[in-house]
Amino acid sequence: MVPIENDCWIVTLVGWLRDYPPSNETGFLDYAQSLPVANLYEAIKDAEPVTPIFIHKFPANQRRHYELMSRFPEGLVILGDAACSFNPIYGQGMTTAALEASTLNDCLCQRRRNVGEGNPIRLTQHCQRAIAKVVKVPWLLATSEDFHYPETIGKRPKGMRLLNWYIGKVHALVGSYPLATLRFYEVLHMLKPPMTLFEPGILFAVFFKRRFMLHSHELDMNPHHSLQRHHVRVLERLKH
Ligand SMILES: Cc1cc2nc3c(=O)[nH]c(=O)nc-3n(C[C@H](O)[C@H](O)[C@H](O)COP(=O)(O)OP(=O)(O)OC[C@H]3O[C@@H](n4cnc5c(N)ncnc54)[C@H](O)[C@@H]3O)c2cc1C
Repeated sequence: MVPIENDCWIVTLVGWLRDYPPSNETGFLDYAQSLPVANLYEAIKDAEPVTPIFIHKFPANQRRHYELMSRFPEGLVILGDAACSFNPIYGQGMTTAALEASTLNDCLCQRRRNVGEGNPIRLTQHCQRAIAKVVKVPWLLATSEDFHYPETIGKRPKGMRLLNWYIGKVHALVGSYPLATLRFYEVLHMLKPPMTLFEPGILFAVFFKRRFMLHSHELDMNPHHSLQRHHVRVLERLKH
């Protein structure tokens, strides 16, 4: 749930593995009510819809390894969704495409510097490899989240089970432990590397969370108050 223009909020419900939110208002509210935490339902149950509900279905994340091709036309570089497309729910596609475009710019500048030095780099191959490096982190974030579900098809990288367990614990802290919330969003929006989620403050909270989490009576459970204010504060901090 995110604030947008004209004092409105955009509300997104997500389903996986054929458990999808319905496109009619009653079904949408029922789906919200079925979530394990009541905050979202409480926030929208009396809200006035200003548009119909729009549905977008996404079959799978898709990554193409052009950097591994032994032959490739010189001068052609593939980036954005054509190289790797993510489930939009992770909100990474535009950021990744922008980082890839910036990488392309670096490669072109490097190429310009090298021209005339007798050893011009092979632009396409060099650039495609650099782009593959950019994709690595968002791909890890998206696929590790998908591999939470045993039904997800695909080869699970080594250590994924342990990573999923840890990230599950971090998720559980998000919403009640501000540091975890801030770091989670920073990593999700690729402002910080995933290793940030292993910094001592979060590591301790994961293992000793009773001591570190706010007690429930300290939280104002009205979502119009604490949760929304907290999310707005986090978004404000991210902007700076
Ligand atoms: C519902 C949804 C929500 C999303 N939400 C987010 C989000 O919150 N945050 C985020 O970061 N990312 C989000 N994304 C992902 C993001 O939109 C994409 O990752 C990003 O737009 C990819 O940029 P692109 O330039 O590679 O492709 P596109 O933005 O798809 O651009 C490709 C362009 O090529 C044009 N084109 C296609 N074929 C041809 C042709 N033959 N000739 C000429 N032109 C052609 C298309 O019309 C289009 O304009 C979302 C995606 C969807 C579907």
